[in-house]
Amino acid sequence: MTCRMLSLSVSMLALAAPALAEEVNVYSLRQPDLIQPLMDAFTAETGITVNVAHIEKGMVERLQSEGDRSPADVILTVDISKLAQVVDAGVTQPVTSEVLAANIPAELRDPGNQWFGLTARARIVYASNERVKDGEVTTYEDLADPKWKGRICTRPGTHDYNLGLTAAMIVHDGYDATKAWAEGLKANLAKKPQGGDRDQVKSIWTGECDISLGNTYYMGAMLKDPEQKEWANSVRIIYPTFKEGGSHLNVSGMAMTKSAPNKDAALKLMEFLSSDEAQAIYAEANNEFPVKPGVKQSDLVASWGTFTPDSINLMEVAKERPAALKLMEEVNFDG
Ligand code: FE
Repeated sequence: MTCRMLSLSVSMLALAAPALAEEVNVYSLRQPDLIQPLMDAFTAETGITVNVAHIEKGMVERLQSEGDRSPADVILTVDISKLAQVVDAGVTQPVTSEVLAANIPAELRDPGNQWFGLTARARIVYASNERVKDGEVTTYEDLADPKWKGRICTRPGTHDYNLGLTAAMIVHDGYDATKAWAEGLKANLAKKPQGGDRDQVKSIWTGECDISLGNTYYMGAMLKDPEQKEWANSVRIIYPTFKEGGSHLNVSGMAMTKSAPNKDAALKLMEFLSSDEAQAIYAEANNEFPVKPGVKQSDLVASWGTFTPDSINLMEVAKERPAALKLMEEVNFDG
């Protein structure tokens, strides 16, 4: 009997063995459609299983409440201020990797190695092909000019993407000038801010407004969608600059959690996401700018032309985010 039990437990162990195969757990704020091809490519190459939990809101709170018991190894998110938030919350750990240091330019990763940028995107102007001439929009500051009265659409001013832009303007122009800008921009809106970046392009297509603020990659997303394609074809991308700077860039990025139970696999995944193969997937599947030098932009992104990226440090932008939020609330931008 004892012997039988022993052989049973041995065979149970053998059965359990595949569950012990290497795996890595990801908490992601990014769209499932975009993330899955990257994870599939990683699994195909390494045999490591990736479990992705898509988390819309409250990632930091969840990691904090899970503490040391958190199953999460790697966090994927958009926006420099979100990356800064997870680091500030103390739920990440520094990662030392020659691969990451070689693949990701220094200005797109944390000097303390807590977060790493994976892709970049510009916040730009979508302009009506019919109603906006070349040269009519050149700077972000110009959007407050009364010549645009009733002609601009945007998603809420308190959304991360607009807070990033506003924070960058605070760095460039100071708080008071940026507040006056936000008031001027609000006065120029065709309607109350609501919806996402694509909804604003739809409003240009319907004739409600002539220009909108949006992120570059949405052009690619709209062109892939049979209904939205018409909206996309009614506009073109214009890269405005700050008066004393370039076009506003933001990033998507990653960090390793402090409690990562699968540290080795997590590091492999992070290094993979910075590789030529993964960077090309980001570039082609979502029309983002790859961060790794030498990885080609998609043909569509290249067709939008070249631009001068703003040179201010993204950490400075993240630092001004609370001020940007206060400013947007003070001018009641979304009201
Ligand atoms: Fe987005």
